[in-house]
Amino acid sequence: MTGDGAQPWLIRGARLLGGPATDLLLADGLIVEAGTGISARGAQVLDADGLIALPGLVDLHAHLREPGREDAETVQTGTAAAALGGFTAVHAMANTDPVADTAGVVEQIWRLGRQAGHCDVQPVGAVTAGLAGSRLAELGAMADSAARVRIFSDDGRCVSDAVLMRRALEYVKAFDGVIAQHAQEPRLTEGAQVNEGEVSGRVGLTGWPAVAEEAIIARDCLLAAHVGSALHVCHVSTAGSVEIIRWAKSKGWRVTAEVTPHHLLLTDELVAGYDPVYKVNPPLRTAADVAALRQGLADGTIDCVATDHAPHPVEEKDTEWQVAAFGMTGLETALRVVHQAMVQPGLLDWAGVADRMSVRPAAIGRLDGAAGAVRVPAAGHAHSSGRQAGGTHGSGSGTHGSGTHGGGSYEAGPALVHGRPLIPGSPANLALYDEATRSVVDPTMHASRSRNTPFSGVELPGRVQATFLRGRPTVLDGKLTR
Ligand SMILES: [Zn+2]
Ligand SMILES: [Zn+2]
Repeated sequence: MTGDGAQPWLIRGARLLGGPATDLLLADGLIVEAGTGISARGAQVLDADGLIALPGLVDLHAHLREPGREDAETVQTGTAAAALGGFTAVHAMANTDPVADTAGVVEQIWRLGRQAGHCDVQPVGAVTAGLAGSRLAELGAMADSAARVRIFSDDGRCVSDAVLMRRALEYVKAFDGVIAQHAQEPRLTEGAQVNEGEVSGRVGLTGWPAVAEEAIIARDCLLAAHVGSALHVCHVSTAGSVEIIRWAKSKGWRVTAEVTPHHLLLTDELVAGYDPVYKVNPPLRTAADVAALRQGLADGTIDCVATDHAPHPVEEKDTEWQVAAFGMTGLETALRVVHQAMVQPGLLDWAGVADRMSVRPAAIGRLDGAAGAVRVPAAGHAHSSGRQAGGTHGSGSGTHGSGTHGGGSYEAGPALVHGRPLIPGSPANLALYDEATRSVVDPTMHASRSRNTPFSGVELPGRVQATFLRGRPTVLDGKLTR
């Protein structure tokens, strides 16, 4: 379940973050050695010549649809899709049925993730009971539960009531939580279908003005500053939003933000054909917005890429634009889209990709093993769940072969720690990526239960060749290991 007891793996010649070829020895769930010419008897050898090694990707925003909409996705199929995309941890959004607004539901989702075993599943808790926007959900109980929820969001809906938003920000301060806002002013977007602009006029669909997003982001940055709490902005989609977040960060406020792969590559020109595969919330914007989002991600104003993986069954997408569901799948193509949108134009190098798709999202999700993020070890792990003093990351030599699973030098154990550097002592969570190949996206080959990718039939660079979760391969040769 957790990679403990698994056979050691020797990865030969991987380019760490795109740098020089290095061997990595994985054992007991950890990277135990990194260098050249490593030999290890008994280890399985993976020839990674030319492949780029990245820390396992972390998604802050995915809709796994379980419980309630297992016809669209399950934790099993969604995490399989994630592993194929190079992810070792995904945050599961709360808009399930029942809504993830109690300790019971978030623990259920957390356990489903542990059972699936393809990657770690970190539930996001709802901000308001039933996503109804009228009273706060049981934030403290979810934070104290086995799932240890740290991110709360009504995603799919905006917490538009300023008093509730303020109370939520105040409440989560006690346990270093984050409120992740789906920024959509409801009155300004009634009936909205596509970005408001030249294209919406041409196609005759109700416009979705940029200001509906920007007004909420500005308000919430001010609220977060007033309260001294942490705000995370979901799926930033406009140039104006990037400007507001840049301003908030310049003030030193605790504001972070994400952008989706599709908003980095696609524009509202695509909706002219009325194909609902391009119908998404927030909508695809203009080329100028795309350029600003890329620049914001490159300069760190936008902290990370998050997929907003939103699977829907074919009958809800393959219909008239007006009635079709909002959303696109994204877990299996995210890294390839970022490769095309950010790496190929020279806006990010592979170290930058590792930062925006693993290091920073892990920190925002409190999965980076820093103080305050102590995690319950997996069942079967013997070591104490208490915080262990002096646990310095990345210096855990001597744990290999000690016979203890999980490396006791970690505050949290490696069980649920992500976004760490690829050095000895770190949990062996990593992805091996082939940047030299290109192929056409074929959703019938995807592990996701749904097929609503806007990249169907599109040629994209790269391929996730392997993914390791705590030293155990979840993907080898581009295929699930189980
Ligand atoms: Zn959303
Ligand atoms: Zn979402």
